[in-house]
Amino acid sequence: MSRDASRKVLAAWLREVGVDYILRPSPRETLEDIRKELVGCNGCPLCAGRSTIVFGVGNPRARLMFVGEGPGVDEDRQGEPFVGAAGKRLNQWVGRIGLRREDVYIANIVKCRPPGNRVPFPDEAKACLPYLMRQIRAIRPEAICTLGATALAHLLGAEERITKVRGRWRELNGIPVLPTYHPAFILRNAAREAEVFEDFETLARRLSLRKE
Ligand code: URA
Repeated sequence: MSRDASRKVLAAWLREVGVDYILRPSPRETLEDIRKELVGCNGCPLCAGRSTIVFGVGNPRARLMFVGEGPGVDEDRQGEPFVGAAGKRLNQWVGRIGLRREDVYIANIVKCRPPGNRVPFPDEAKACLPYLMRQIRAIRPEAICTLGATALAHLLGAEERITKVRGRWRELNGIPVLPTYHPAFILRNAAREAEVFEDFETLARRLSLRKE
């Protein structure tokens, strides 16, 4: 057995016997390596209700990455993040800065659908976060945009209100992070979309993108 394979077997066994052990990612790790490791994941109770793991989608070399909360009913069926109404709105925002959905990378704080679309519990987010951190490390985006309060809280450990911190740059392991509102929130609060447009202009400026 290769060294990498035995590390994975050991890590899986430790998790099975209740040791909270996360593999230190190898520096050459790819998104496919991480995806394979997640197959059959039972790291938190959300696994019981999922149809499929919603890993992430997009360009593995994306300059810009989005992080949402967790899969809803459509995403759980299709195995892809942001495919429902909120996803359509996100695609429009991405289009405003001259990018297509395929150009960016989209992932969530948790990879399995919380029952009834509730907000993930802190323990669920904690169990899943190492995989997201490894995805970020594999992609090395030039900027990350968090969508909504859950992504802000768990990715940045920020406790401030999203209304206060949106549009202000933060940092995660040397990567600039811009919090903005979740598209599902904007679908219910159309008057706040102008703030999201501002935030996307901020992203476009940071990445020197052509604005349509
Ligand atoms: N909302 C999210 O936060 N993520 C999805 O993938 C879909 C809706």
